[in-house]
Amino acid sequence: MRASKIMADRVLANKKIEPVWNTVVTKYIPDEKGEMRAVRLRNVKTNEERELPVACVFVAIGHDPNTKAFAGKLDADPEGYLIAKNLAESKHPGVFIAGDVADRVYKQAVTAAGTGCAAAMDAERYLSGLEH
Ligand SMILES: Cc1cc2nc3c(=O)[nH]c(=O)nc-3n(C[C@H](O)[C@H](O)[C@H](O)COP(=O)(O)OP(=O)(O)OC[C@H]3O[C@@H](n4cnc5c(N)ncnc54)[C@H](O)[C@@H]3O)c2cc1C
Repeated sequence: MRASKIMADRVLANKKIEPVWNTVVTKYIPDEKGEMRAVRLRNVKTNEERELPVACVFVAIGHDPNTKAFAGKLDADPEGYLIAKNLAESKHPGVFIAGDVADRVYKQAVTAAGTGCAAAMDAERYLSGLEH
């Protein structure tokens, strides 16, 4: 099952969370100390606007890996995550893979940086090999 579907099901089953459908944030409203006080919302179907008091905002950007540019060029699973072997190698010598584009599980800054480090070291070794 897709990670986004699992997350959506958990959100909808959680009584403490109230989904606000068909709505966009149009303004972040701070209090006099500059801390988050509310968001201004607009219903995109009715254009009705209202203010919702909130203490913080977390921007989520979805679960689809941004790999369309590599479609057909690099191996990917059915959901578009690139497939690396030995951590960072692609099927093309000299092309290395790192970060969330190949990580369907953790998707964290530190794991992305870790595979980024592996890819950088592989790239350096690859380029050194070309010189000899
Ligand atoms: C709201 C939010 C909160 C998060 N909180 C945490 C947290 O608390 N702790 C944590 O560890 N992780 C957190 N993460 C996850 C973390 O940000 C990612 O795991 C990490 O940034 C992945 O690094 P990356 O280098 O793989 O991808 P990215 O950081 O997404 O970098 C990819 C880069 O490629 C660029 N790019 C895209 N397309 C092209 C193109 N065609 N040409 C050139 N450049 C391109 C993008 O502009 C971007 O700069 C959070 C993510 C989000 C969205």
